[in-house]
Amino acid sequence: MTNESGQPQRHRVVVIGSGFGGLFAVQKLKRADVDVTLIAKTTHHLFQPLLYQVATGILSEGEIAPATRLVVRKQKNTAVILGDVQRIDLAAKTVVSSAMNMETVTPYDSLIVAAGAGQSYFGNDHFAKYAPGMKTIDDALELRGRILGAFEQAELSQDDDARERLMTFVVVGAGPTGVELAGQIAELAHRTLVGSFRNFDTRDARVILLDGADNVLPVYGGKLSASATKKLEKMGVEIQLGAMVTNVNRDGLAVKDKDGTEREIRSQCKVWSAGVQASPLGKQLADQSEAEIDRAGRVLVNPDLSIPGHSNVFVIGDMMSLDKLPGLAQVAMQGGQYVSKNIMAENKGRSIDERKPFKYWDKGSMATISRFSAVAKVGKLELTGFIAWVIWLAIHLMYLVGYRSRLATLLSWSTTFFGRGRGQMTITVQQVLGRQAMDRLTGNVGVGHGDSPTQQLPPEQQAAASTEKDVAS
Ligand SMILES: Cc1cc2nc3c(=O)[nH]c(=O)nc-3n(C[C@H](O)[C@H](O)[C@H](O)COP(=O)(O)OP(=O)(O)OC[C@H]3O[C@@H](n4cnc5c(N)ncnc54)[C@H](O)[C@@H]3O)c2cc1C
Repeated sequence: MTNESGQPQRHRVVVIGSGFGGLFAVQKLKRADVDVTLIAKTTHHLFQPLLYQVATGILSEGEIAPATRLVVRKQKNTAVILGDVQRIDLAAKTVVSSAMNMETVTPYDSLIVAAGAGQSYFGNDHFAKYAPGMKTIDDALELRGRILGAFEQAELSQDDDARERLMTFVVVGAGPTGVELAGQIAELAHRTLVGSFRNFDTRDARVILLDGADNVLPVYGGKLSASATKKLEKMGVEIQLGAMVTNVNRDGLAVKDKDGTEREIRSQCKVWSAGVQASPLGKQLADQSEAEIDRAGRVLVNPDLSIPGHSNVFVIGDMMSLDKLPGLAQVAMQGGQYVSKNIMAENKGRSIDERKPFKYWDKGSMATISRFSAVAKVGKLELTGFIAWVIWLAIHLMYLVGYRSRLATLLSWSTTFFGRGRGQMTITVQQVLGRQAMDRLTGNVGVGHGDSPTQQLPPEQQAAASTEKDVAS
C-alpha cells in the first residue's frame, strides 16, 4: 500500500472510543505492523462499573479513569486524538471529529466503532433534567453533588416537610447499577454520615429503589435476586417493584403501580439507571450501509462483528447487537480483541474468508450490594454474600487499568470497608452547576443534564443560593 506521494504506507486502523472495547482493541494491536489512531471524546479510559463509588464518595475519578494517552504511551504505533466523532463517511473511508473548535479528518483502512451507549429515558428525555443517569465522570460528580447537597440542604431547612423531601432518595431501575447505587446511598445515610449533622438524623433518610419489573436484578433471577432483595431491605432500602415512572419533576416522581394505582413520591434527589441507548453513530452507519439498528440503536452486526457490505468496518461492545449478548464490559473487551486479531492476521495476508465467527466466553457477572456482600453468577454457579464480594473485589482490581489505580483503589476501599470513612466527599458548586452553564453556552438547555441541588431548594433558600448560581452561569 502507498500513500499520496507514492511512499509505502502501513495499514491504518482507526478506533472510535476509549472505553472497554476501544482500549482492548488498541492494546491488542500493540505489536501489529499497522498505524493505529484512537479517537475519543474524553481524554480518559473509564471503568464504568465503579462510577457509583465516585458518585458516593468512595473513589476519586482519577482512580477509575486513567488518561488514555498515558496508558498507551509505550505503544509506538498508536496516536491518540481527542475528538467527538461527528461523521463517519463509509464511501470516503474517513472519520470527522471535532474538539475545541478544531475539526480533524482521519482516513482509515479498517475502522472499529466502540462509542458505547448513553442513558435511555424511553422517549421521555425531559426526565433527565431531574433524574440524571450515571454514564460518565461528569455524571458521577454531578450525582455526588446532588446526593451530598441534599444532606446539606436538609441541615439548613427549617421546614419538616421540605426536609422529608430532601431526605428521600429515589433510584429508578433495579439492575446492577441501581442496586449498587441504592446500597451505597443507604450506607452513606446509615453509616458514613451518622452524627455529622446537628438538625436531623441521617438514619431517617429514605432510599427507594424502584422498578417496573417484578424482581430486583431481574437478569439474575431466582436465588440471587431474592438474596439481593433481602440484603437491601436489611440495609433500609425500600424496594418498590412493578412500579412505572410516568413523570419526573423538580419535587418528585409520578408512579403507576401494576394494579393501576397512581401515586406521587416527593423526592429531591432522583437517579435514573433504567435503560440504555446506543451511540447515534450506529444510525449513521446504518444509513450508509445495509446494516440495521434495533430499538436501542444497536447495530445488527455480522458474526465477525463487521457491518453488512463493509468487511473493514466493525462495531463492538454496547453499540453492537449479536446473539442477544448483554451490554457487559467482557463483551466489549473480547469483541475488541477478536476484531484486532483478525485485522492483524489479514494484514499478514490471511484471507477475509477465513474469519471465524466471534465467540463470547461468558466469565460471569456480579453486583455488590454493600461492603462484604455481593451476588455473582458464573456459569451455573450462583454465589451470594462474602464469597461473592471477595470475587467481585478481586476481579474489579484485576481489570482496573494501571498498577497505580489498583493500589490507590485498594487503599480507598480499605478505609471505606474496614472503617467508616470515605475519602472523596468533596462537592463543589462548579461540579454541580458546570454542565448547565456549558449547556447554556451551547444552547443545549434542558436535555440530558440535571438541575443543581441549589436550583431545587425551597423558595426561602433560593435567594441565598443565587449568588453561587450567578457565578456558575
Ligand atoms: C454505571 C455502570 C455500571 C456498569 N457495571 C458493569 C459491571 O458491573 N459489569 C460489566 O460487565 N459491565 C458493567 N457496565 C457496562 C460496561 O461498562 C459496558 O458494557 C462497557 O463499558 C461497554 O464498552 P464499550 O467500549 O462498548 O463502551 P464504553 O466503555 O461506554 O466506551 C465508549 C467510548 O466511546 C467514546 N465516545 C462515545 N461517543 C463518541 C463520539 N461521538 N466520538 C468519540 N468518542 C465517543 C466515549 O467517550 C468512551 O470512551 C456498567 C455500565 C455502567 C454505565
